[in-house]
Amino acid sequence: MAWAVRGCSSSVFAPSVFRGPRDRRAIALTFDDGPSEATPEILDILARHNAAATFFLCGANVERLPGIARAAAAAGHEIGNHSYSHPYLFLRSPRAVGEELCRAQETIEKHTDVLPVWFRAPFGVRWFGLRAAQKRLQLTGVMWTAIGYDWKSRSEEVVARMASKAMNGAIFCLHDGRELRVKPDVSQTVEAVRRLVPMLIDQGYRFETVSRLLCPKN
Ligand SMILES: [Zn+2]
Repeated sequence: MAWAVRGCSSSVFAPSVFRGPRDRRAIALTFDDGPSEATPEILDILARHNAAATFFLCGANVERLPGIARAAAAAGHEIGNHSYSHPYLFLRSPRAVGEELCRAQETIEKHTDVLPVWFRAPFGVRWFGLRAAQKRLQLTGVMWTAIGYDWKSRSEEVVARMASKAMNGAIFCLHDGRELRVKPDVSQTVEAVRRLVPMLIDQGYRFETVSRLLCPKN
C-alpha cells in the first residue's frame, strides 16, 4: 500500500510517468511549490545556460505572486499543476482531491494563460479520487527519477545527490518554494541549481521540459 501511494513508478491511483526515454542525453529539471520570491533567481540561472525546466505551481502561490508565475511561462518553461493548497491527498475524499486539482488548474490558467497537462502530487502522495480528477482535467501525473531533498539539505549534498543520479531521460525534482510559505529560504536550492546546471551541460546533457522529454517525436 505504501508503494501504491508514494512509489515513483506506481500508477495504482492514477496514471503517472517517472522517467523519459533512455536514448537521448536529456534531463527534465522540475521545480515544485512555487512560485516564490526566489523563483526569479532560478529563472536567471536557467536563462544564462539556455536551460528549460518545468515548474509545478501551487494555485495559492500563483495568486500571491502572479507576475512571477507569468515570468516563468513567458521564459519558455513548462507550467504544471501541484494542487491549490499543497495538502496531503491521503485519506481525503475524492471530491476534495478533485477540487484541489481543479482550483489550481483554474488559477494557473487565469494568471498565466497556460492550462497544465502535467500534475505532480504534493509530497508524491496519490489517493482515491485522483484518477477521476486527472482524467476529467486531462492531467497526467509526473513523479521523478531523483529528488533533491533540497528542503533539508545543504547545496553540496543536493548537487552530489543529483549528479550521481544523472542519466538519459531522468526527471529531477527540486523545489523553488516551500509549500505555501511566504518568502521561504530556498538559498540552498538556488546554489545547487547554480552549480548543477553547468556541471551537467558539461557532461553533455540538455535540459528539456517534461513535454519535450516525453514527446515520442524527439
Ligand atoms: Zn510540493
